[in-house]
Amino acid sequence: MRRGNLFVISGPSGAGKGTLVQMVLPRVADAWLSVSATTRQPREGEVDGVHYQFLGEDEFSRLIDEDGLLEWACVHGCHYGTPKSTVLEHMNAGDQVILEIDVQGALQVKEIIPEAHLVFIAPPSMEELERRLRGRGTETEEKIALRMGNARHEMELRPKYDVCLTNDNLDECADALLAYIENKALETRY
Ligand code: 5GP
Repeated sequence: MRRGNLFVISGPSGAGKGTLVQMVLPRVADAWLSVSATTRQPREGEVDGVHYQFLGEDEFSRLIDEDGLLEWACVHGCHYGTPKSTVLEHMNAGDQVILEIDVQGALQVKEIIPEAHLVFIAPPSMEELERRLRGRGTETEEKIALRMGNARHEMELRPKYDVCLTNDNLDECADALLAYIENKALETRY
């Protein structure tokens, strides 16, 4: 049996981390993806409890007060946090736990759980990142500008990560992410 590991995947919004995680999840038998809590409004097609746990500001504050979050941060003007108990339960059960969270959260997790594996997903270039964000068609100009500003800051924090994968080609990047997870999981086999 493999021991539980914690993989924290971050990178600028639009770098493709969500798509990569969805490609890799079905290929890792014991993977489990954490569902974050957020105060952001659901986007079209997003389901409460599946994509996020959508909360009001009061409910989110209560979670913080109750020490229910492993980490939390304000990202693009909304609050996001990782529910603590489910993550610890799945790690203890021997799962490969995956968090898809921002850089502030990732660095908090590394402080609390130093064995966590931090993976940064970088876009091939900032121009390509902006093109992808526009292509989504879900964000206003103001939001795109905010996300590009945050992306520049996030890129500067790359050296704090254990590994950085550039998402130039989706299939190749997914293979690299899968290989990283499988290698780390094999290292911690009983
Ligand atoms: P989006 O609103 O596009 O789904 O996510 C915006 C950003 O919030 C992304 O960078 C995403 O990784 C990050 N995020 C999602 N969940 C969490 C979380 O639980 N904690 C932190 N710190 N960031 C999160």
